Amino acid sequence: MRFFIRTYGCQMNEADSERIARLLVDEGYLPARSEEEADLIVLNTCAVRESAEEKVWGKLGRLAQLKRRKPDLLIAVGGCMGQAYGGRIIERFPHVDLVFGTRSFVELPRLIRLRLESGRPVVDISEPPKSPFAPQLRADRIRAWVPISTGCDNFCSYCIVPYVRGRLINRPVDEIVSEVERLAEEGYKEITLLGQNVNSYRWGDVDFPKLLSILNEVDGIERIRFVTSHPKDVPERLLDAIAELEKVCEHLHLPAQSGSNSVLKRMNRRYTRERYLRIVEGLRRRVPWAAITTDLLVGFPGETDEEFEETVKLVEEVRFDYAFCYKFSPRPGTRAAEMGDQVPEEVKSERLKKLIDLTQRIALERNEEMVGRIEEVLVEGENPKVEGELKGRTRTNKLVFFRGDRRMIGSTVKVRIREASYWYLRGEVEDELRGAGRS
Ligand code: SF4
Repeated sequence: MRFFIRTYGCQMNEADSERIARLLVDEGYLPARSEEEADLIVLNTCAVRESAEEKVWGKLGRLAQLKRRKPDLLIAVGGCMGQAYGGRIIERFPHVDLVFGTRSFVELPRLIRLRLESGRPVVDISEPPKSPFAPQLRADRIRAWVPISTGCDNFCSYCIVPYVRGRLINRPVDEIVSEVERLAEEGYKEITLLGQNVNSYRWGDVDFPKLLSILNEVDGIERIRFVTSHPKDVPERLLDAIAELEKVCEHLHLPAQSGSNSVLKRMNRRYTRERYLRIVEGLRRRVPWAAITTDLLVGFPGETDEEFEETVKLVEEVRFDYAFCYKFSPRPGTRAAEMGDQVPEEVKSERLKKLIDLTQRIALERNEEMVGRIEEVLVEGENPKVEGELKGRTRTNKLVFFRGDRRMIGSTVKVRIREASYWYLRGEVEDELRGAGRS
């Protein structure tokens, strides 16, 4: 039996899909190269925004045709939409065989057997007693996602995550360290620690900065990244860790969401614009070349022109290296969905466009400042669009394309930056730094 997993949404979902793949392979399933080749299609979904859900509904509609051609095909829908909608997915799309949730995915092989034996659709969005940190079948051989927590206790008023991913569960520190040591032995060079809010990690007396200092000692790992950091709890020690720990990369993804204190209050973000700016200043004072990226939400209920302009001013002041800008969409069950004074769609679109134009212009200017500099680039693979070109990332997480030999993949090279756009750089290799090439 062959399976194909389609992942929507964030890195957390990517990591969960790697766990689902591992569970299926351990049961004897084989990966398929396409949906057409598969006997089982798993959609690991995202419910964070309406637009993400629309993609999944559209996909499910199209999969009905494939199911008509291949009646034995199994279709499973899991992740955040599975958790949020449960059996309603099957009511709407009767060709779906199985619905699972953000934690019940660890039971997927058993649920598939149940579906096959009973001949009836199966829905399980319960919280099984098993650890949600099941092993992963990793898609990459150089960079690895390492979940350190799951769920969230913050309840930002617009966000569905605490409802669909549940309350915060931290992963035992020794489990994280053993996994990173194993990854180093297998030749991985870079790890990204994952959590909805990594800063709230705690296990005994180990908090997040302490965890970074422990992982910094693992031989073989060259780079440590992490997402996501909530600005309400970024301690000075985290900024020190970015500045002082050799392997921790100089990049902080710090979602601002809004530059207006009144909007931040309605969002229940529990920090102010001033606090946010102090974190940015603290990082730039320690590491002037650090990259700061963010998420910005426009059109939150009641957002006035003046409040939106405060976000514009924040962007101009911080000068983000990149910003993910998106429109507010009410998520069922969240407090913001019940708030009156929803911003009209055309106003949201206008504000979004203004913010995208501004953040892209600044990102381009930030990248242009790098032209002529030499950057350390960890080579990730080939550029699928340009033959003979490789791609990699700087320590500040900027994507770089350059001409090079496949044998460089997995090594760190020095690249002189020659050209910049708002989302990538292009350069020339100056020197190979370290690391055996792998193909
Ligand atoms: S911190 Fe806020 S935005 Fe992030 S996952 Fe938790 S509730 Fe959602």
